[in-house]
Amino acid sequence: MKRRDFFRNTSLATVGLGLSPLAFGAGQTHERLKKGPKKRAKNIIFMVSDGMSSGTLTMADIMAQRQLGRSSFWVDAYRTGLAKRAMMDTASANSLITDSAAGGSAWGGGVRVYNGRLNCGENGEHYTPILQKFKQLGKAVGCVTTVPITHATPASFCVCNESRKNQPEIAKQYLDLRFDVMLGGGKEYFDKGLRKDGEDVFGLFEQAQFGVAQSKSELDSLKNDERPVLGVFHTSALPFTVDQNTDTSLQAQVPTIQEMTRFAINKLARNKDGFVLQIEGGRVDWAAHSNDTTGLIFDQLAFDEAVKIALDFAEKDGETLVIITTDHGNGNPGLFYGKESDVQFDNLQVAKHSNYWILEGEGIERNITTSTLIERVHYAQNYRLTDAEAKELVDWINALSEEDIKNEYKLPYERLAQLQKKYTAVGWGDMHHSADFVELAMTGPGSEMLTPFVKNYELHNFMLVAAGVEVK
Ligand SMILES: [Zn+2]
Repeated sequence: MKRRDFFRNTSLATVGLGLSPLAFGAGQTHERLKKGPKKRAKNIIFMVSDGMSSGTLTMADIMAQRQLGRSSFWVDAYRTGLAKRAMMDTASANSLITDSAAGGSAWGGGVRVYNGRLNCGENGEHYTPILQKFKQLGKAVGCVTTVPITHATPASFCVCNESRKNQPEIAKQYLDLRFDVMLGGGKEYFDKGLRKDGEDVFGLFEQAQFGVAQSKSELDSLKNDERPVLGVFHTSALPFTVDQNTDTSLQAQVPTIQEMTRFAINKLARNKDGFVLQIEGGRVDWAAHSNDTTGLIFDQLAFDEAVKIALDFAEKDGETLVIITTDHGNGNPGLFYGKESDVQFDNLQVAKHSNYWILEGEGIERNITTSTLIERVHYAQNYRLTDAEAKELVDWINALSEEDIKNEYKLPYERLAQLQKKYTAVGWGDMHHSADFVELAMTGPGSEMLTPFVKNYELHNFMLVAAGVEVK
């Protein structure tokens, strides 16, 4: 596509949304973008804690204060005034409640699309993804995530595809794009032994002169490699942080979001024309969908440490815009009042495992007994269910078929979370995404253009303008 077309597309694309001035966002943002940044951003680091409701950010900050004696780095950026703060409207083209594909596409393509789509309109429109635009401008680009690298949020910055479900196809779309670093999970979409079509997609990347890593040590061996790097470290999503923290074999095998963030920034920063990087704490959303409090908070804190790595780089570099946000709320959890709430919440600090591990991890089996489950939960999260509570869960699990016991949607995640509230003081509103307006933080060159209220799709042009790209 010719350069001019693309930017024409950019503005056209936004205008395509019914030619309303709002397409350029509320007046304020448009006015600020028209003026442009005081100083151009050479690099952009776009950080997404997927499905992070405000209660999730709050609980992670409280746990950091009480366990680590410090604020979370995200909230600290507010406390110190380092970051500007705004609220963001996350609706999609066909729903007040977005999914991650449409939520990411609003940023990635600059247009609201239907849930489930990646930068594709209902009349076959294709909106050029932001990383393709920046790659054409000579920037180094890439994505890091804790879920499959082909999943909705990273894919929304990279490709156009009718459906987020086409992950096997998206894996091959990445081959043609030759982006500089792509790190996450999702071996099931690359490995010939796991792909339904048996195609050796890892092999295709090697033949195409990519550095391919499937373990932490393999990634380490590529740190000075000039080739584009594909790193895929687990069958599906990477393990929950709380589970990896107590599993030395996982620690040896799978890089953390902090390690992948450092690798990606070090590699991309070698490009003289700058870089654009998306970093996603994707499994925050998966924990929220299953009301998995320990999975949620420890993954949010790991994401928060990746935020620190990005902020430290930006502080030293001085030419980097850091955007920290979420694509939508999920489950709207919160720490609720009770006589023992503070003590109960503090008890989560010593958790060894997630609810995912309790219900699907090593050692869970059919015909589990009440006492075994009570011991399992106590080992994982340091409190004892009553016999009646454990019996309710055991009866549920043991009533499941061989097949259903492997299906997370059939497992008693919601009931377990309801029973846990008595011991953790953490309650949940639902198991789905919410329409909540969400957190949006920015620091660095261009952040002065941020207005207090933003619509998700406005961030597309915001990034282009902040990087000094003229958007008509
Ligand atoms: Zn979700």
